[in-house]
Amino acid sequence: MNRLLNALAKNDRVKEFALGFPPARAVVDRFVPGETTDDAIATVARLRDAGLYATVDHLGEYADRPEAVEAQVAEYLTLLERLGAASLTSHAEVSVKASALGLGLPDGERVALENARRICAAADAVGTTVTIDMEDHRDTDATLRLLAACREDFPATGGVLQAMLHRTPEDCRRLSGPGSRIRLCKGAYDEPASLAHATTPAIRQAYLRCLRILLRGEGHPMIATHDPVLIEAALGYLELVDRPPNAHEFQMLYGVRPAEERRLAAVGHRVRVYVPYGTDWYGYFMRRLAEKPANLALLGRALVAR
Ligand code: FAD
Repeated sequence: MNRLLNALAKNDRVKEFALGFPPARAVVDRFVPGETTDDAIATVARLRDAGLYATVDHLGEYADRPEAVEAQVAEYLTLLERLGAASLTSHAEVSVKASALGLGLPDGERVALENARRICAAADAVGTTVTIDMEDHRDTDATLRLLAACREDFPATGGVLQAMLHRTPEDCRRLSGPGSRIRLCKGAYDEPASLAHATTPAIRQAYLRCLRILLRGEGHPMIATHDPVLIEAALGYLELVDRPPNAHEFQMLYGVRPAEERRLAAVGHRVRVYVPYGTDWYGYFMRRLAEKPANLALLGRALVAR
């Protein structure tokens, strides 16, 4: 099922069908709080008022035309300006994808770096940061090079490591130095068995191994999971390791476990919510469905009730 939904996430005909289908839209709204910059700003303000932080993602993947890439960059620059004008930058940063910044274009690494630097500079100017999301294994090295290059001028730029990949403990060791902001997630992509753990127990075990490396390091681990087993284990490790307060944070995707976000925030942890917005919600939404059968049931009920 997971593999099927991940494949459908790349299918344009299914996407067109879903785009014109209002009942599906209601379920999408649970995970994607809006399409416009105004929607994103309003969501961040609501989260701030609830004591939560945000990282905002303008949806859009697989950008294969320079105009699409430029439109992405322009939207991020507007978003950052708006976050600054609304005095929200102490509570919100942005998340970007290398593929949306032009990694897939000819001379893609140079193009993506130029665009990432523009966004990092705009974020820096309003007092906030950027995290570079991680995509599938074919782009891991290029994305880590992009992160390293951005950190030369903007050291607070964050990166993402996916625990499911066999290579990740080594990447965690390399990226656990002072100032290194690393979001650790399981990994959302359907990866080859030769490169990645495939079962839930193996992925959880790998996640915990990577988390221990990051927590023993001197960086700022961003613990991105909704998994109660991992959250409880992380809370246990945090009690054992000697780390300054606020040198870590929990992260969750918008709409998945709002009560858990508030529970963690109430006991003093920084909790950052990943807020996706924009019209290009389809691939993101399909990955959320692939992750949890209950989300698929939600969509099924909405379709039956229409
Ligand atoms: P899952 O494997 O989805 O769930 C594990 C268990 O958690 C389930 O069995 C269930 O018991 C429990 N659970 C899940 N949802 C609920 C619920 N609503 N209520 C109660 N229990 C629940 N992936 C990438 O590849 N690249 C990225 O850049 C990236 N960025 C991310 C940023 C953030 C902030 C987060 C949270 C995730 C990101 N991901 C990214 C996605 C990530 O890799 C996983 O695909 C996704 O988070 C699902 O894994 P999980 O650990 O949350 O738990």
